[in-house]
Amino acid sequence: MATIIKNCPICNKSNFNKFYTKKWNSSSFVKCKKCSLIFQNPQETIEETTNRYNHNYFNYEVENQYNFFNLVKKTLNDFNILNILPKNAKILEIGSATGLFLKYMNENGFDSVGVELCKESCEYGRKNFGVNLLNCRLEDAYFNQNYFDFIHFSHLIEHLNNPTDFIKFIYKLTKPNGFVMITTPNSSGLFSKYYEENWRCIVDDHLFLFNKKNLKKLFTDNNFEIIGIKTWGSIPAGKSKLLKKIFDWFVKKVGVGDVVCFLLKRIS
Ligand SMILES: [Zn+2]
Repeated sequence: MATIIKNCPICNKSNFNKFYTKKWNSSSFVKCKKCSLIFQNPQETIEETTNRYNHNYFNYEVENQYNFFNLVKKTLNDFNILNILPKNAKILEIGSATGLFLKYMNENGFDSVGVELCKESCEYGRKNFGVNLLNCRLEDAYFNQNYFDFIHFSHLIEHLNNPTDFIKFIYKLTKPNGFVMITTPNSSGLFSKYYEENWRCIVDDHLFLFNKKNLKKLFTDNNFEIIGIKTWGSIPAGKSKLLKKIFDWFVKKVGVGDVVCFLLKRIS
């Protein structure tokens, strides 16, 4: 049965405007009048969300794994992550897909574990990259509290049914002064504004779409300090590489890219 959201998970207000006209089954997007959080209402259930991580998802992830990981690597470099983490840091990734991030962090001397809902992706990552991948939901992995030096999740939070509960849970797992890195579509970006409901991120499996301001509120309300924010991504790689290069440079410089990344530090 679908879940109806009555109060905004970020600002707790209950006034929403109908936003886009796109519809999936009985759901459509609304926008919180107070904090501009965009979300589907009603929302699919956790079971329905879980069912998305099937064989088709696995094929898509394997096909694109190196492209996706190259983007993650750029972000890690932008924030100089490898140099700010302590030696032998304990690292958790949520939504690891085939595990290339875990492999990379292990190769750099860290101790990494990932959780991933797609069983085939877990098997593939363990077999091909020798990584520690748990095929379960985060809350079923029973990790120790105050344990991880660095928690990473990219393109995950927009798919979750309750982003606020999730961030509270992440806080518990992070060590005091530990770091968290989050990447998600940016609804305050140039292309979201320009394309409106034809923006490429308006798809049925995105339950929430955040902007920089409401993400800041979500993180600071939950005892994280914001260390850095970066945005990037513009037009798709099409005919003109030069045009894309100019657009990519511009949106990153001005902070209006299609995707936003936050580096946070847990306040102890
Ligand atoms: Zn709100």
